[in-house]
Amino acid sequence: MNKDSTVEPEYLSLYKSGELQKRVVRLESRLTSCDICPRNCGVNRLKGERGFCNSVYLPAVSSAVAHHGEEPVLSGTWGSGTIFFGNCNLRCVFCQNYQISQDPETQKNNEIEINSLAEKMIYLQDKLACHNINLVSPTHYVPQIVRALMEAVPLGLRLPIVYNTGSYDSLETIKTLDGIISIYLPDLKYASNDNSNKFSIAPDYVKHSRAAIKEMYRQVGDIITDENGIALKGMIVRHLILPNRLAGSDNSLRWLANEISPSVTVSIMSQYHPTINARKIPQLDRSISMEEYLEVVSLAHELGLEDGWIQEMESKEYYLPDFSKKENPFEQT
Ligand code: SF4
Repeated sequence: MNKDSTVEPEYLSLYKSGELQKRVVRLESRLTSCDICPRNCGVNRLKGERGFCNSVYLPAVSSAVAHHGEEPVLSGTWGSGTIFFGNCNLRCVFCQNYQISQDPETQKNNEIEINSLAEKMIYLQDKLACHNINLVSPTHYVPQIVRALMEAVPLGLRLPIVYNTGSYDSLETIKTLDGIISIYLPDLKYASNDNSNKFSIAPDYVKHSRAAIKEMYRQVGDIITDENGIALKGMIVRHLILPNRLAGSDNSLRWLANEISPSVTVSIMSQYHPTINARKIPQLDRSISMEEYLEVVSLAHELGLEDGWIQEMESKEYYLPDFSKKENPFEQT
């Protein structure tokens, strides 16, 4: 990781030049026959039609909180200013945010106006003093997010934007985010389309996620931090180890080292825990074993993927949020 405290979010200059406005117009026009993500549903979201992600124009926001359980360069001292969007363009059977990602009826009550989304960004910056705005599951709301940024910049927003995605993203959409997103935080969930289809209903996940991650890295490169170790720019790839090697860790890590760079920042996560839906699938109905964990850790070392974090086996921390606690889904009871 490199240090450079002079990096400031590029979206500020895109706003001044008028480019941000052009991007909003381009993105919103795609909502009339939605192709914002690889599903290409073709529904008119501006007229209230819903595609696979069950989302209309107004974004569903479940909570906006200071999150202290992200990677240290994101959480820092004051937390990562996390905005959890409702609904999703994936249906991962093991999703730990399933309460908000797979319950479209409840999420209708969480739909908010764009100016409210902008105000939440300002709240996280000014009232909670967070280090960044961390957009969780942003893929299906990219046009709305950029529209909200247009409203938040004149209100004083200046924090880096984190795009925290499951990576089932369209290459064209990610290209449109060039200069808007400072920090990409993509998951690399699978190396097999059979598994991505079975467990996330995404039969072409591998192709799309890898193309998107390549483009993200082209835009922002390796992580750059300020003098306090807080991320200002760059990409962190998250890889959740699944039981029975279902995440294809070997193939995915080799791809990262060979096709992206051995210097890429990687966050290897051992926290897998079967949620309600995953309990019904024998292959997914257990935590990972020590053997499976050590296999991935030793491969990461062998490939020279030394920049980042490897979660301890014992660590469970934030990883089972409860979104019925709207004010703070990470509060322990
Ligand atoms: S964003 Fe939603 S409606 Fe649009 S293509 Fe993706 S899943 Fe379909």
